[in-house]
Amino acid sequence: MQVVSYGGGTNSTAMLVGMVEKGEPVSLITFADTGGEMPHTYEYIELFSAWLGGNGYPAITIARRCDLNGDVLTLEQNCLSTNTLPSIAFGFKTCSQKFKIQPQEKFFNNYGPAKEWWKAGNTITRCVGYDAGEPQRAKPYSDDKYTNRYPLIEWGWGRDECVDAIRRAGLPQPGKSSCFFCPSMKKHEIIQLNKRYPELAQRAIEMEQNATLTSITGLGRGFSWEKLIKADEAQLDLFPESPFEIDCACYDGEGE
Ligand code: SF4
Repeated sequence: MQVVSYGGGTNSTAMLVGMVEKGEPVSLITFADTGGEMPHTYEYIELFSAWLGGNGYPAITIARRCDLNGDVLTLEQNCLSTNTLPSIAFGFKTCSQKFKIQPQEKFFNNYGPAKEWWKAGNTITRCVGYDAGEPQRAKPYSDDKYTNRYPLIEWGWGRDECVDAIRRAGLPQPGKSSCFFCPSMKKHEIIQLNKRYPELAQRAIEMEQNATLTSITGLGRGFSWEKLIKADEAQLDLFPESPFEIDCACYDGEGE
């Protein structure tokens, strides 16, 4: 059984396009929704799901984290209720572990065909969209349930090949996929967020204001998003690109 962990960005979109082109079997495609994805990502998932269905492939299954009562818990709610920020702001990757990886694993643990597959002594081949330009992320991984596979690296597809594949399929480019409050966002992306989705930028600022912080200044780690956005609105260029860039654990290609 081969499955795809879809990230909503350029890499995993291109990986699926490549698998369709090559006629590779895919049993299930999952996307973990933190509840704070970008509006264009939610739109793209619908469009891409329809494209996959039209090519005889499964639609994208959405997995979400739930609380003990079984109610959906978003990363934003979690941060607000605990007066904190996504853990990547503090240099940890627990937010992606809890809101991206675990919901998908939990889904599989309850998915009948997967349980049968494991019971018969097989492992699931899980395709991850790391591209040929980032081989350091593609560590060999195998346990009792999963063996990771990195098709883009097998095919030698870097960013340009990924963008080309999506274009070849007649699809629009997906754009950047991340939480709208992701502390890994670069300054120009934060300013762009405020221009494109001002209500989301405001919610991110509210999360920042609500957090009790001692070791960092704000969502930008060494700077506050609120101050950056206000400076930009006042046309003040007080914020050179941060030296505190943190790799996003959910990175899925830069795109166009
Ligand atoms: S996109 Fe950023 S904030 Fe959201 S789960 Fe991933 S690392 Fe955390």
